[in-house]
Amino acid sequence: MRVIEHIPEMQTWSETEQRAGRRIVLVPTMGALHEGHLSLVREGKKSGARLVVSLFINPAQFAPNEDLAAYPSDFEGDRDLLEKEKVDVLFHPTSTEIYPAGYQTYVEVEKLAPLLCGEFRPGHFRGVVTVVAKLFNIVRPQAAVFGAKDYQQLQLIRRMTRDLNFDIEIVGCPTVRDKDGLALSSRNRYLSREERAAALSLSRSLKRAESMVEEGERESRRIIHAVRAEIQREPLARIDYARICDPETLVEVAKIQGGGAVLALAVRVGGTRLIDNTMLKT
Ligand code: AMP
Repeated sequence: MRVIEHIPEMQTWSETEQRAGRRIVLVPTMGALHEGHLSLVREGKKSGARLVVSLFINPAQFAPNEDLAAYPSDFEGDRDLLEKEKVDVLFHPTSTEIYPAGYQTYVEVEKLAPLLCGEFRPGHFRGVVTVVAKLFNIVRPQAAVFGAKDYQQLQLIRRMTRDLNFDIEIVGCPTVRDKDGLALSSRNRYLSREERAAALSLSRSLKRAESMVEEGERESRRIIHAVRAEIQREPLARIDYARICDPETLVEVAKIQGGGAVLALAVRVGGTRLIDNTMLKT
């Protein structure tokens, strides 16, 4: 596996591969890799493509009061995992490589970005979408793989890719969970034992919602009531939001109808903010 730190080297590598007629797939990450990330890598490898994993803790998506400085990182551990997965390139730029002095251009996804997490993390998605657009230009992949765990992010990236005419297939992968249901996340490393137990209320509440829908419930209000009650049983958990939304526009819906709806949660457990979601299908 080649480790590339500089943009021109990354672009030259991609150009050579494209000229040889090979397909390139990109998996963007912020490192501290777990099985969720590795599921994206395996999906990307399926087509026999050349696989690039980027590892970049993107300062533009953290507000000054957020956990940028504390964000978990383990470069050697990540490199070993990716080597074992037979990744072709680990792209690992510095912040100044991506945002050199004088940098001032950002991508805004007007309607989707301020919703859900955007309401609680203003500017977050502007940072996410900007870095993904830059990675698309740097790596020039034919496809890029993202996790449905970050459902809003996946929808924003699909929108941006269409809106900016990137000729890139966006592949979404299902959320990978621990055996007890907790969605894998780099931030789970912050949780104490008690907090981890309280964090299980997220997946439990999603399951509760799924069974209500299976039993015929269609009213968002009633489902949300049950979801909130499940989470609020944990004194360590504080809900940022629990909403049922249209799967594409992310606008809240009062009823679950034909195309289904996404139930999205953001919950603080102790000092750690966790997100999870499920698709409610009729
Ligand atoms: P991150 O390093 O947290 O920015 O995540 C990088 C990519 O991994 C994103 O596309 C995430 O949606 C995806 N991802 C993170 N956690 C999971 C998970 N538990 N299951 C599937 N994909 C995930």
